[in-house]
Amino acid sequence: MRVKHLSPPMSAPANCVLVAMLLPSVIALAVAWLPNGDESRLQAAEVSVEKFTTESLRGRVVFTAEAMARLHGAKSVSEAAERGLALETPDGRLVPLLEDVRGRAFRADERLRHMNVELLVRRYPNSPVVQIVTLYEISADGKFEIDYWCDVCAIAMFELKTCECCQGDIELRRRRVVEANKPASP
Ligand SMILES: [Zn+2]
Repeated sequence: MRVKHLSPPMSAPANCVLVAMLLPSVIALAVAWLPNGDESRLQAAEVSVEKFTTESLRGRVVFTAEAMARLHGAKSVSEAAERGLALETPDGRLVPLLEDVRGRAFRADERLRHMNVELLVRRYPNSPVVQIVTLYEISADGKFEIDYWCDVCAIAMFELKTCECCQGDIELRRRRVVEANKPASP
């Protein structure tokens, strides 16, 4: 229970005064927490804050500055050339990408920027920026889930780097996605 941690150690008199001041709120907290026995109320509150929708988008991942210049003639300052990443859809729409480790993967490995991709993304309220959940390559021979793999440690990673376990080299991994209504070709 978090209630235990509310009073840090301190000198006795100060402690007494503080306990007297805090007691009603400590009891209120305990009453609020105890009926459930777990933290389901807190979890419910956290989930409502992190509300998002999920969707799939196709296209190529580009640097925003290059794409804005090419598509609209709108030039960025040179130092912003590789600052932002976006998904460019086939109809020329730019969808800005949040740069977490999945987003940063497109910066670290040029091969990803040459792929026709499908991104499973989270879209948050009031934000044009989407967050990548899963990366797929859409190629002539099918759909592949893309990540990185260390053969030695048998662990997957989201971006190209030295293995976070053995510090060795890791490989781009392509795993064929078998669609439920579409069996994989041999
Ligand atoms: Zn490793």
